[in-house]
Amino acid sequence: MSTPAIVEINDAQFCQAHMKEVCDACPIDLREENDSFFGFDFIDREGIEPPTSTTNKDGVWQCKKHGSAECNQCYGWKKQITRLRAAAKKAGKK
Ligand SMILES: [Zn+2]
Ligand SMILES: [Zn+2]
Repeated sequence: MSTPAIVEINDAQFCQAHMKEVCDACPIDLREENDSFFGFDFIDREGIEPPTSTTNKDGVWQCKKHGSAECNQCYGWKKQITRLRAAAKKAGKK
């Protein structure tokens, strides 16, 4: 089996085919890579997903909505991961 293609969007990694951090179809799970990149310890959390994105002429991914490769709203991964980690921890307490 070949390794699924990976794209990097504002320093976070996703499968290229489906634009998912955790993808059952590929299958691939990039949470650990992304967590360690952003300085988190890995925990079982929901995966992040980028909004609709396109590549610019240099092949860099940018959000369709704002046309930015470093969009804080669309690509604010650290904030999103922090929120999902909090949700996962909360769910784990039940
Ligand atoms: Zn995929
Ligand atoms: Zn944006």
